[in-house]
Amino acid sequence: MRSVVRIVPTHSVMEGGGFKVRRPYSMSALLSPFLLLDEMGPNITGPGEAVGAPWHPHRGFETVTYLLDGRMKHEDSAGNKGDLNPGDVQWMTAGRGIIHSELPHDEFQKTGGRTHGFQIWVNLPAEHKMMPPRYQEIPATESPTIQKDGVWARVIAGECMGISSSIDTVIPITLIHVKMNDGTKLNHQIKSQLNSMIYVFSGKITVFNETRVKKYPQVLGLGVNQVVKDGELALLSEGSEVEIHSNGPSELLILAGPELNEPISRYGPFVMNTKEEIEQAFLDYRNGNFAN
Ligand code: FE
Repeated sequence: MRSVVRIVPTHSVMEGGGFKVRRPYSMSALLSPFLLLDEMGPNITGPGEAVGAPWHPHRGFETVTYLLDGRMKHEDSAGNKGDLNPGDVQWMTAGRGIIHSELPHDEFQKTGGRTHGFQIWVNLPAEHKMMPPRYQEIPATESPTIQKDGVWARVIAGECMGISSSIDTVIPITLIHVKMNDGTKLNHQIKSQLNSMIYVFSGKITVFNETRVKKYPQVLGLGVNQVVKDGELALLSEGSEVEIHSNGPSELLILAGPELNEPISRYGPFVMNTKEEIEQAFLDYRNGNFAN
């Protein structure tokens, strides 16, 4: 049974053209293969006020955008174009390079409103960093969801409660959005060789470990019977299952993926293995032979 080994708090920072995101204080190697976990908003903007991230490049990893509220439009150097509406997922593998823009939709810009969602960066192993870029878009209507005993889940990647995602990931990734009613519980299987974490973005949960509770009945705290609150990222120990109890209504993401065990050289929108590869990315971008 997995338990919490560390709680990483989040803080608010400005990203892109100036929108507020909630981000864990540190994204260390413990979180491999996740490089970034940004909760966008929730932000309320008036007509004409919404901002996004205009044209910028990426190389060497994947960006996953999951929208809960609001409306975005995207466009890229490979000629892809589309909208993102609440519940939609865009899984973009930047691979050897892409230049894209992520902006509020024109209609949304006219009216203003609430924007809420996630952008998650997933690292690629060295052998796949220069793969051709690709897009996978899963509209809310096609994304696998399940509701059972007061627990609702959308399986963006991986498996949960017997249903699985159609997203093809380069390395085995789990990304699940879970909503839990008060007093419910979820036993979720996670392959034991994967790193795993839980990000709570509404309410609070307890990561319950019966074995540890029996062994240390008086102890409450890390690893035994740990409460994880709104805005906290909990890193989990090894194990093949996590048991989550909801204290009041709660909302969370469950993430899992393999430890890549490779050096990371990171500069802005490029994530490679060496400094030379980062310099090459800048050179390729400047010379206009970056993405096509
Ligand atoms: Fe981007």
